Amino acid sequence: MRVVALALPLILAGCMFGGDDRPAPAPIRPRASGPVTLNGPTPRETQQCFADLSREHVRYSGLPDRDFGGGCVVTGAVQLLDIGVPVTGLKSMKCGLARNFTAWVRFAVAPAARQMLGSDLVKVETYGTYSCRGIIGNAAASAARMSEHGLANAVDVSGFVLADGRRITIERDWRTGDQQVRAFLETIHGSACKRFATVLSPDYNAAHYNHLHLDMGRGPFCR
Ligand SMILES: [Zn+2]
Repeated sequence: MRVVALALPLILAGCMFGGDDRPAPAPIRPRASGPVTLNGPTPRETQQCFADLSREHVRYSGLPDRDFGGGCVVTGAVQLLDIGVPVTGLKSMKCGLARNFTAWVRFAVAPAARQMLGSDLVKVETYGTYSCRGIIGNAAASAARMSEHGLANAVDVSGFVLADGRRITIERDWRTGDQQVRAFLETIHGSACKRFATVLSPDYNAAHYNHLHLDMGRGPFCR
């Protein structure tokens, strides 16, 4: 119990600020000379992930490994270009996140829209992926408690557009009285919890009132 009690705040710190677009994060001093491109070998796991994306007919471009300073380091990342459904706001994503996000959209969100709401999913809206954010306060702990967004290992999903013109947003519809929409959101949230390490919804805290934070960092944590 003691171990769990100690470990949990660390997990939450990473998520709290990762998904939180509201309170101003601690300023991170960018490297004065700009990002540094890293030239290490591509790990086998990353190569396998790129191959998985290609096999799944995902269009993407690989991005160079970069150290932005302040603990924000992005390695093994891609820019998703076409996963079958348009997605707004995506910037660089670590490949494993991109792979799981693509599978979630294709095999959870799209089928749930069709089966539960009777209309095809035509767009996913996000507030983005990479963002070099730290945490408020303790600078010494900032590296260990870096937001997963600072590693391009998180995405904030804000809404879904259907072929019939309906737009479902986390902000407006998370606690809607519409039972079908509620069931849809519960289903895709539950699926996200099986596919990502950490999932934070409006049920987690007020900072997440308008999006689902999905990341491949520490976990499992599903709220
Ligand atoms: Zn987030």
